[in-house]
Amino acid sequence: MISVQLAYIGLGSNIASPIEQVRQALSELATLPLCRLVASSSIYASRPVGPQDQPDFINAVAALETRLSPLALLDQLQALEQQHRRQRQRHWGPRTLDLDLLLYGDSQINTPRLSVPHPHMTARAFVLAPLAEIAPSLHVNQAPLSAWLERIDSPHPNQGLKRLTEV
Ligand code: ATP
Ligand code: CA
Ligand code: CA
Repeated sequence: MISVQLAYIGLGSNIASPIEQVRQALSELATLPLCRLVASSSIYASRPVGPQDQPDFINAVAALETRLSPLALLDQLQALEQQHRRQRQRHWGPRTLDLDLLLYGDSQINTPRLSVPHPHMTARAFVLAPLAEIAPSLHVNQAPLSAWLERIDSPHPNQGLKRLTEV
């Protein structure tokens, strides 16, 4: 039996009513087996990573207490992506729902299916800012979230990330 771990999940969507996709996914995360949703961030809007000829993304971050192993949690996240009819086409292309396992306790995982901490998270304002909202004192790779955010404030502060307060 795995002891309770605190995992952080990054959510993203940019097609088929993305705000609803993310809201729905947050409530689905709360129903996963052996998991308890303990926090969720505000909803944010960001410019796409990679191909620019696609709609802006809606993002959020959630904290889950879980007794699932990292790979069992990834299985559950990928099953939720499938329920949202995610289709894999272009790399970094549009998607109904993307669920990334950002952190799993203090674990460092490097397997073909799973890398934790998520390899790009320290360079992405749309991950760092919502994460800082729900876990302000968290450190990733030995540095506080604020230090990672400061490193990426060019060319635009927070990569043009917007917190949506009216949704
Ligand atoms: P990025 O990883 O840059 O955010 P992406 O989210 O578009 O890109 P996907 O197509 O969703 O990438 O995932 C590709 C593969 O990444 C998945 O099949 C999964 O096995 C693997 N993967 C590795 N580490 C993780 C992680 N921490 N969370 C989610 N998937 C991961
Ligand atoms: Ca992703
Ligand atoms: Ca992903």
